[in-house]
Amino acid sequence: MKKIGVLGAGQLGRMLALSGYPLELDFHFYDTSGKPSVGLGDITIDTKADIENPALAAFLNDVDVVTYEFEHIPLELTQHIESQTDLFPPSRSIKVCQNRAEEKALFTKLGIPTPKYHIVNNAKELKAAVEDLGCPVVAKTTTEGYDGKGQFVIRSIEQCSEAWDSIGNSPKGKMTLIAEEFVDFKRELSVIAARSKNDDMVVYPLAENSHHEGILRYSIAPAPHLNKEISDQAVTYVKELMHELGHVGILTLELFETKNGLVANEMAPRVHNSGHWTIEGCASSQFENHLRAICGLPLGNTDAYSPTCMINIIAVKGDIESIMSLPYAHVHLYGKEERAGRKLGHITVKADTLEELNWRVQNIASFLPGSPDFEGSKNEKN
Ligand code: AMP
Repeated sequence: MKKIGVLGAGQLGRMLALSGYPLELDFHFYDTSGKPSVGLGDITIDTKADIENPALAAFLNDVDVVTYEFEHIPLELTQHIESQTDLFPPSRSIKVCQNRAEEKALFTKLGIPTPKYHIVNNAKELKAAVEDLGCPVVAKTTTEGYDGKGQFVIRSIEQCSEAWDSIGNSPKGKMTLIAEEFVDFKRELSVIAARSKNDDMVVYPLAENSHHEGILRYSIAPAPHLNKEISDQAVTYVKELMHELGHVGILTLELFETKNGLVANEMAPRVHNSGHWTIEGCASSQFENHLRAICGLPLGNTDAYSPTCMINIIAVKGDIESIMSLPYAHVHLYGKEERAGRKLGHITVKADTLEELNWRVQNIASFLPGSPDFEGSKNEKN
C-alpha cells in the first residue's frame, strides 16, 4: 500500500484521501496552519514549517511520495522535500504559481493571452501604471492573494494612494503589486487537467464559475454553450503549461471568456474548487486523477456524465437536512465550524438538461442563507 504525504490538512486534502482509499492509498498530512480539519489519516503539525524539525524527517520517512493541497508553502520547504523524496507537482510549478508576475511572464512566453499589466513597487509606479492602462485597473499583490484578498479595483486615478496603502503596505512589509487592465469578460471559465510522469495528459470539460464577494459560489460544467474553438484553445493552453513546467498532477487554469476569445487570469498547481463537480460528474474525479498521476498509475476518464453544478456552502450550513432530503443533492461537508467567508462544504447536482439543472440549483440555494441568486449560465443570455 502506497502512502501519500500531503502538505496541508484542509478540505482539499480530505477529498484527496476520500478518493485515494479505494485505490489502496494511505495518507499522512503535514499541517503548517495548526488547525487541521482533514479528519482522516495521520497528521503531523509543524506551524513553523521548519526544515530542521525532526518531525519533518519522520514524515518524509513515513511516506512514498509528497504532494500538497495549497501553493502558499515556503519554497525552502518544498525544495528541501524534493531533495529527499518525490514531490509532485514539482517545486517549479509552485514557484511560478506563487507569484502572479512569474505566472504572467510564463503565459506571455507561451503566447497565452493575458490582461495588459505592469509590475509596481510603490505608489508612484502604481499611478504611472494606471495612467497607462486607463481605469478601471485591478491591483493585486503578486504573492499571497487568494479568494479576492490582496486586491483593489482602482476606478479613478485619485484612488492610487488609497489602493497602495490598502494592499501595498502589508503588516509583513512592502508588497510588489501587479496592476492589470480590467477585463470586460462574458464569463469566467476554468480548465482542469492532469499530466502523468510520462507526459500523458487528460483534460476535464471546462467549468463556468460565478463568484460573489471574491469567493467561488457556483461552477457549472460542462460550461454551457461553449464554442468548440474556445474550448480547444483552453485545452491547448493548459497542456502547453503542464508540458513547459514538467508538471505532474492536476493543474488548474482560470480564464476569462471575452468577445475576442480567452484571456488567462491565473493558475493553481493543485486540485481546485471549480473541479469538485468531477466527484459525481465524471468516472475519475480531479482528486483521483491527481493521485493517479503522482503515483504513476494510468490516468482516468474525464468525460462529464451530464450537466452538473457545484454549489459552495459558505459561512453558514443553512438548512442542510432539507437539502439532504432532496433526491438529487450530493452533500459534502468539510468538518469546519461556521465563520464568515469560510468554505464549509459543497453540494453537487446533476440533471438531464440545463433547464432541470437550473431549477434544482435554485431550489438548493433557497436553503442556503446568504447564497447569491443563481441565474444559470451567463452565456445563455448572450
Ligand atoms: P483572482 O484572485 O486573480 O482570481 O481574482 C479574483 C476575481 O477578481 C476574479 O475571479 C475576477 O472576477 C476578478 N478579476 C481579477 N482580475 C481581473 C481583471 N484583470 N479584470 C476583471 N476582473 C478581474
